[in-house]
Amino acid sequence: MAELSFPRPARRFGSVGFSEIVKVRNRVLDLLAAGQKVWRFEGGEPYMPTPQPIVEAMTEALARNETRYAPSSGVPELRSAILEKVRAKNGIPADDDSPIVVNGGMHGLFCAFSTLLDPGDEVLMFSPYWTPIVDVVTYHGAVPVLVPTTEARREGLTKTLARRKTGKTKLLYWNSPTNPTGDVFSRAECEEVCAFVRDAGLALISDEAYEDLIYEGDGHVSPASFPGMFERTISVFTFSKTYSMTGWRAGYVLVPKRWRLPMQTIVLYSINGVSTPTQWAALAALKLSDGFLREAREGYRRRRDALVAGLSAAGFGIETPRAALYLFPRVPASLGRDSAAAARQLLDSVRVATVPGVVFGPEGEGHLRFSFSVPEETIAGGREALQSLAAAAVK
Ligand code: PMP
Repeated sequence: MAELSFPRPARRFGSVGFSEIVKVRNRVLDLLAAGQKVWRFEGGEPYMPTPQPIVEAMTEALARNETRYAPSSGVPELRSAILEKVRAKNGIPADDDSPIVVNGGMHGLFCAFSTLLDPGDEVLMFSPYWTPIVDVVTYHGAVPVLVPTTEARREGLTKTLARRKTGKTKLLYWNSPTNPTGDVFSRAECEEVCAFVRDAGLALISDEAYEDLIYEGDGHVSPASFPGMFERTISVFTFSKTYSMTGWRAGYVLVPKRWRLPMQTIVLYSINGVSTPTQWAALAALKLSDGFLREAREGYRRRRDALVAGLSAAGFGIETPRAALYLFPRVPASLGRDSAAAARQLLDSVRVATVPGVVFGPEGEGHLRFSFSVPEETIAGGREALQSLAAAAVK
């Protein structure tokens, strides 16, 4: 009998990685399945459950039989609540048709890059960066051009960006507050980068997943709020982090008119709209009072400070970050410079799960990412485990 043959998957996957963070999670799940105790810091989930009014709004939507196709860009009531929020809170001059409801930040980002990128286009992005972005850019046949954040701050943002801009540069990916460092770019820095983008005739994709998780100092700045920027920015927001809704898969993007039809097309053909009851729940989230966020931030700040203290005591070099869910300390000398080896050693020897910094770009090497959005017992247990390792290292 003739041997059966099968088509190969699309060539573009040849150069696209599969999230290293998911690989760490899978290894942790194997250890847990084998009955091991693991102190888990590798995630990126809010520590608290979804607020009850959001859950109830979903139940009520189901009771009203809100179970049919919604318009593919979103339920009108939700789109108008989004408009109200982004105009009042973010200062973005969004026009009535600009919001499109998407299946979370990842989906919004994928669709934004898909809307703008052709093969060969170059994308400027500060590094360390959130890992999936390089894969999404590469998937589209485009080229990520890394801009080391520390170097850019030292030598000037405009100068550093200008050195990396070529005739093929199409857009800049912006993420503030930043995963993995918990860093926040200042208003002046954001303004300077926007001026560069505007003067160079580029587009901006602004990932504002952590806009509400800033614990002190100046608040969040949306690039699209600066003059002339809304017209060249796709702003990507998510309900995941602000409202503890990671599993609901809901977010929204603001798209200027010139790119709206391609964006609506890719949203239509990828998901044909977010689940209708979920959109009613998202509407309830936008209507929650500030009290919820104040309380959530208090809990995050307490966890952050406890973990910073624990890591410092265990010999990690660390500055306290102002935002997001992560600490990005330097690996202590006793564990070596190689972050992948250090993460493996921490997991194998004291069952502390972290993400190696190198997966966030070469600028992340020598660091480990710890989420502080974990149960307080995990912080206490992880701290003891790390101190036992530090004590063994000095013996
Ligand atoms: N952007 C950044 C920087 C993130 O860290 C995340 C989630 N880890 C997202 C976007 C997307 O989150 P989601 O798809 O859950 O909305």
